[in-house]
Amino acid sequence: MSRQDPAVSDWVRPEIRALSAYQVADAEGLIKLDAMENPYTWPEELRQAWLERLRDADVNRYPDPGASMLKQCLRDHMSIPAAAEIILGNGSDELIQMTAMTLAGPDRVLLSVEPGFVMYRMIAAFTGMRYQAVALNGQDFSLDVPALLAAIERHRPAAVFIAYPNNPTGNLFDESALMEVIDAAPGVVVVDEAYAPFADASFMPMAGEFGNLLVMRTLSKMGLAGLRLGLLAGPPAWTAEIEKTRLPYNINTLTQLSADFALRHRGLFDEQAQVLRGSRADLFRRLAGLPGVTAFPSQANFILLRFAEGRAKPVHAALISAGVLVKNLHGSHPLLQDCLRVTVGTPEENHAFVEALSAALA
Ligand code: PMP
Repeated sequence: MSRQDPAVSDWVRPEIRALSAYQVADAEGLIKLDAMENPYTWPEELRQAWLERLRDADVNRYPDPGASMLKQCLRDHMSIPAAAEIILGNGSDELIQMTAMTLAGPDRVLLSVEPGFVMYRMIAAFTGMRYQAVALNGQDFSLDVPALLAAIERHRPAAVFIAYPNNPTGNLFDESALMEVIDAAPGVVVVDEAYAPFADASFMPMAGEFGNLLVMRTLSKMGLAGLRLGLLAGPPAWTAEIEKTRLPYNINTLTQLSADFALRHRGLFDEQAQVLRGSRADLFRRLAGLPGVTAFPSQANFILLRFAEGRAKPVHAALISAGVLVKNLHGSHPLLQDCLRVTVGTPEENHAFVEALSAALA
């Protein structure tokens, strides 16, 4: 079938035709500071022990459908309260999708804040939900509580998604402001804690306690992005319904074994997160000292930067020429004009980035 096939325009849903596919930049040969990955690999000894563990994998069989061993391991290592049930997703992206599929229907609203994580909007479109965004305060990217409460009252959202810390701004929202949202929301509130390893606050202790609170985590940012594993924790009444939308065997055998293995060596990842927090502080100090750059404080493993008007695009291009890939956010939201986002890498990578940036700004 050709690209012009009229059946495509006749049958593909207009909201899907209106979307652009999620773009992943080609990082070949570049220092990759665009996707919030952990830059550190595993010590050789650990890698060998992991490969040994994988020898037990019977890939001729389907995986454990309930991933029971892994779930218990996640409970132990992530301090999931006993009152909360958990569901696993192929990355937390899949959990956003499962939650939306569970709630979608004519005129059902998915509400979030912007600038925020783009998949909330995209998944609302995939599942036929109406998406509503409430702008963050322009100065410091804090929650605009009156606007949020008014939007909740007006749109009665089936789901509210809020990333805590927020991507791409990096800040943690005020806890009591978020509690007001949870209190006011008629449906579920998903607090997306993808960046929890780099933050000092969490709603996880409250999972299972508040009737409409779901707390989402991922192993991606702590250093296991390649495994694709996320979890959603909350009251069993909600998780039991969302679980029905999970495709059988969504967590493959290699991921189940590898995540279980990695979590049993949790100390390594905690250490890496500590190192990255220290590097974040160093990088922030260096960036804050550069003329023509505003660095926004971050509780995540990335830093949002704003440049003088019209400079983000040429600076982004100059960084690529110098061998460093960061994310260009200019044009993605009015509050992100002239902004780039850099992931915290190794000290060497961060140094290369700062050097390239200084040269680009000179
Ligand atoms: N939530 C937020 C806020 C994110 O930034 C990301 C990834 N960039 C995700 C969820 C998805 O993470 P994953 O699917 O790798 O678990």
